[in-house]
Amino acid sequence: MGALDYLKDELAQLQEQGLLLHPRTLEGATGARARFDGRDVINLASNNYLGLANHPRLNEAAAAAAREFGAGTGAVRTIAGTMTMHRQLEERLAAFKHAESALMFQSGFTSNAGTVAAILSKDDVIVSDQLNHASIIDGARLSRAEIKVFPHKDVEAADSLLSETARPGRRQLLITDGVFSMDGDIAPLPALVEIAQRHGAIMMVDDAHASGVLGSGGAGTVDHFGLHGRVDIQVGTLSKAIGVLGGFIAGPRHLIEWLENRGRPFLFSTSAPPAVVAACLTALAVIHDEPGRLERLWSNTAMFKEGLHTLGFDTGASETPITPIIIGDEERTQEFARRSFEAGVFCPAIVFPTVGRGAARVRTIVTADHTEGDLGQALDVFDRVGRDLGIGEPRL
Ligand code: PMP
Repeated sequence: MGALDYLKDELAQLQEQGLLLHPRTLEGATGARARFDGRDVINLASNNYLGLANHPRLNEAAAAAAREFGAGTGAVRTIAGTMTMHRQLEERLAAFKHAESALMFQSGFTSNAGTVAAILSKDDVIVSDQLNHASIIDGARLSRAEIKVFPHKDVEAADSLLSETARPGRRQLLITDGVFSMDGDIAPLPALVEIAQRHGAIMMVDDAHASGVLGSGGAGTVDHFGLHGRVDIQVGTLSKAIGVLGGFIAGPRHLIEWLENRGRPFLFSTSAPPAVVAACLTALAVIHDEPGRLERLWSNTAMFKEGLHTLGFDTGASETPITPIIIGDEERTQEFARRSFEAGVFCPAIVFPTVGRGAARVRTIVTADHTEGDLGQALDVFDRVGRDLGIGEPRL
């Protein structure tokens, strides 16, 4: 008997409930078409919105930076791991977000968790959308502040929570994802900003799925809604539309300086290697030089959504390139994803606990690199699989 044997029982339970994960293996570079588990498929499963993850300019920048500056930095940022290029990237990110200053973290996850934990303490309160990302939840727990969750996008409920939890000297953080990763809907940011200002609360938005996607030049939800200067903290990731790895915080200079001193992942985990930083810098240049990518992302999104609606699928409240096909039942959802994969389309099944029980869906994400042919073929497959399983009611 090993001390860890209880995990075997836990795993068996997950297996029994159909919740055990078996990640597929990508055999080659990611892209609109890619090879997973020995099968060439149309890839509707990645967050590579602008198709930058395997862009020749980024690949070359990464290779050149590794040759010139090495494979690693050898230290955390605050000791000896800050290179000129980290600072350059932060300057560009601040400009990208129209913010005073920016700070790079190792991931979007550590950006959220490290920041929330660094700016609040046990006497404070966090008012958080029910569907916010796991990294926000972890950061909230680490901060030891009181956590109050409001129903998804319910601004009135958030307002009431801010009223109820107000005490003299107590800090309040109102926090939301900009684009929600499982539903593809957009936060009601103007109304949230309004109540945050009325209560004197800090307003923070996690733009992991909006950076490079929404707003002019992909600047994010703050730009999309014209809220410049009214959101205190913007979070971005460098691993989705930017195509590489890492995350960042954009905000006022004093916030950034505080995070340099108290953001634990920044202080205690080694900095991003040269290849990553150089590729991110080049990604921002490509976004600027190739605006057609953002246009294609949205024209592909419109075409694909229209196709899904014509086939009668329930796409929920999606307004972005993330479009779920909501099926409900876990088993049928897994079957839909499995059959689609066998027919050449990769879209993952998303089931409890990532979404609520009975809210299972397959999630599709189109990118700028998909052709009309790719998307048309994917729709044909969904049509066939949907008919076989009795999902969707085609409109004539
Ligand atoms: N926030 C949201 C809403 C996300 O979907 C993700 C990625 N799944 C993250 C943060 C974390 O970003 P990263 O993958 O860069 O750690």
